Amino acid sequence: MSKVLVTGGAGYIGSHVAKALLQQGYDIIIYDNMENGCESAIVGGTLVKADLADETSLSEVFSKAKVNAVIHFAGYSLVAESMAAPQEYYYNNVVNGLNLLKVMRRYNVKKFVFSSSAAVYGEPLKLPITEKHPTSPTNTYGETKLIFEKVLERYAGSYGLASVSLRYFNAAGADPEGQIGENHNPETHLIPLLLQRVLKGDRSEFSIFGDGYNTPDGTCIRDYVHVTDLARAHALALEALETPKKKFSVYNLGCGTGYSVLQVLKAVERVTGSNIPYKICAPRTGDPAVLVAGWEKIKCDLGWVPEFNDLDKIIATAWCWLKKSRRV
Ligand code: UDP
Repeated sequence: MSKVLVTGGAGYIGSHVAKALLQQGYDIIIYDNMENGCESAIVGGTLVKADLADETSLSEVFSKAKVNAVIHFAGYSLVAESMAAPQEYYYNNVVNGLNLLKVMRRYNVKKFVFSSSAAVYGEPLKLPITEKHPTSPTNTYGETKLIFEKVLERYAGSYGLASVSLRYFNAAGADPEGQIGENHNPETHLIPLLLQRVLKGDRSEFSIFGDGYNTPDGTCIRDYVHVTDLARAHALALEALETPKKKFSVYNLGCGTGYSVLQVLKAVERVTGSNIPYKICAPRTGDPAVLVAGWEKIKCDLGWVPEFNDLDKIIATAWCWLKKSRRV
């Protein structure tokens, strides 16, 4: 069976993808420096605890195992942090990624799935956002993803690297079997933050970042897509790379429905049966008002359709996992 290297496979999305691949019979190696990864998120495969900046460790992995393909998650992914610390983002997300591609070239590994983001689009000119939408990131995080996509496109033309870049909208939810879930430290994402305070019985006011956006209730709108649906898309992308029609493709991954921050808060109240007090704070730098995906392209090309297209159901899986693991 095919051997796949999953960088960042101990992280939130990486671990769900790793689990999906293991269930499909893939042999996997998880390459993670464990800066944001979590041992309990590893449900199988082999773990190599190392950094992508460490070329010796990377080379060792490729020289020992016959890796057929790489799925690359490792990187930083927080919008606010990327604005405060752009250097770390360019180094980790771009330079370390280039290092990985360099070692892949040395070992002639030519299949690559990239964890990209809707943040490459910036403020949308037209909704829903399709892959044809111009790219103009409003934050450093999105820019690092866009730069790396351009690298992949060039490497496709010059070196024959076959890659698929998956532009996630807002990944949410947890493994429906309750084995793994979202476990960032510190947590900054909307849904886990809301759920954690309900679990803790925290009655202080939740901070909503701005209500002056051009949306019906003034709060930001995002398209929440279940992490298991994302995982399935990676498996489909890997299969497509066996006989790629194009050497470089980008696909949006979202459900096509947007929910405002206030709507998400209300959904968390419904799922948990708790009331959540809130206050409006200053907007977060770099946050676009609305991000909603057009996902026809991946449906047409790879047959992907999101199975969890109901926000309450997505939140319910995260709530189940959190209660079970009591990660607060
Ligand atoms: N958000 C908020 N309060 C928080 C965390 C997030 O109002 O404590 C908002 C954030 O400004 C954004 C939305 O919730 O509009 C989703 O944020 P998240 O960090 O979950 O994902 P992002 O869109 O940054 O990838």
